[in-house]
Amino acid sequence: MKTSVNSLCPCGSGQKYKKCCQPFHSGRVAKTALELMKSRFSGYAFSHWAYIIKTTHRENQEFTTQTEAWKKEIVAFSTQTSFEKLKILEFVDGEEESFVTFEATLTSNKEDISFIEKSRFLKVNQLWYYHSGEFL
Ligand SMILES: [Zn+2]
Repeated sequence: MKTSVNSLCPCGSGQKYKKCCQPFHSGRVAKTALELMKSRFSGYAFSHWAYIIKTTHRENQEFTTQTEAWKKEIVAFSTQTSFEKLKILEFVDGEEESFVTFEATLTSNKEDISFIEKSRFLKVNQLWYYHSGEFL
């Protein structure tokens, strides 16, 4: 995907990336799990591996302290994939635990992949983290 700060944000907000998810990638804290989910989607689109790692809960099955290897995996996935579309289907907000159900459309090796995932987010020390997801 061709992406620049003036492109429309990959998260589907209809806003420019620089006014939407870029501030999160530059350090702004996501106030809700929904903001975190969308900015992680854009993070993948822009290969922001550090943001993906930073916002992944320690209990996530992909979490590892082998940062170099993890970074390579994220960058490989991001560069082989086009993040075409994100549609939020449901957002259940909570104090310490939130759920976001979304439909994502990706293209990898010229193949369209569409799936629905229900993601679970947990708050630790005032910060939201992606904990896990299940395909519906
Ligand atoms: Zn965005």
